[in-house]
Amino acid sequence: MRYFDLHCDTITELCRKKAELCDYDGHLSLQKAAGIGCWRQCYAIFIPDSERGEDAISYYERHYHYFKKQMMVNGDMVDWQKKLSDIAAGQLKSRAAVLTVEGGCVFAGDLGRIGQLSEDGVRMVTLTWNGENELGFGVSQNRGLKPFGFAALREMERWDIVVDVSHLSDAGLEDVLGAATRPLMASHSSARSLCGHPRNLTDEQFVALAKKKGLVGVNFSRGFLQEDGQKASFHDMIKHIDHFLSLGGEDTVALGSDFDGTDLPSDFPDISSIPMLYEEMLRLGYKEALLDKVFYQNAADFFKRYEQCKG
Ligand SMILES: [Zn+2]
Repeated sequence: MRYFDLHCDTITELCRKKAELCDYDGHLSLQKAAGIGCWRQCYAIFIPDSERGEDAISYYERHYHYFKKQMMVNGDMVDWQKKLSDIAAGQLKSRAAVLTVEGGCVFAGDLGRIGQLSEDGVRMVTLTWNGENELGFGVSQNRGLKPFGFAALREMERWDIVVDVSHLSDAGLEDVLGAATRPLMASHSSARSLCGHPRNLTDEQFVALAKKKGLVGVNFSRGFLQEDGQKASFHDMIKHIDHFLSLGGEDTVALGSDFDGTDLPSDFPDISSIPMLYEEMLRLGYKEALLDKVFYQNAADFFKRYEQCKG
């Protein structure tokens, strides 16, 4: 099987614990993914809302260097795809990494930073986390994008950095849908009609993203799968995938685990459970071709599409 995961917070945890990607004791490590044949992983550098200006930049730099070191040490096992054209070409040894950022405060309110991040190999950024930043508002306040947010969106599109709308407020998402000229991503958001958490997408938002040739990664966080997160099981992940498929999402649904950034269902301990999820869906009658799209190909196709839709 092949797996393309749109979001994890593993870098934050590795950096905090001075741990190694190879055999880290969290949700994700190279060893834990040994059962996955072909695997492309987006690694997010998470910037807390409280980090602003120079502090946000140095916070980012510290984690960027840690990520770079991990990529160097494991260079024979993981291919770090820095350029959009590398990802879009779809050529893959067996394992590849894509660098992303969670939290638009990484721009420090300076449009000039966006080109630098692109040069660093950052290929996707969430405009906000849950709170307010220079670009707009996360899910904690339902207010639209700020003027700097619109300007940053245009600059990100110019520099081949995918705009990620996960964590953004509903009003902000509406603004982004109206302004974006390239396909949009919601890297780690599930279905709000199954679990009413504001971090999840409404059916209308999902359909609007699909119409714009976007992509949505189902989040494995137990609090986003079930109202009572304690009761969540990996079968709820299948329900969210299935719900998006029922909205015509065959080319739009993908997976964004949120590994090392959240609590998972108790019967789905870490990335080593991915083949089990795949096998269970096969057993339930989902066709192999459809599963390959959800687990891998839709995400790969998104980056191809994104590259082709320049401006
Ligand atoms: Zn997140």
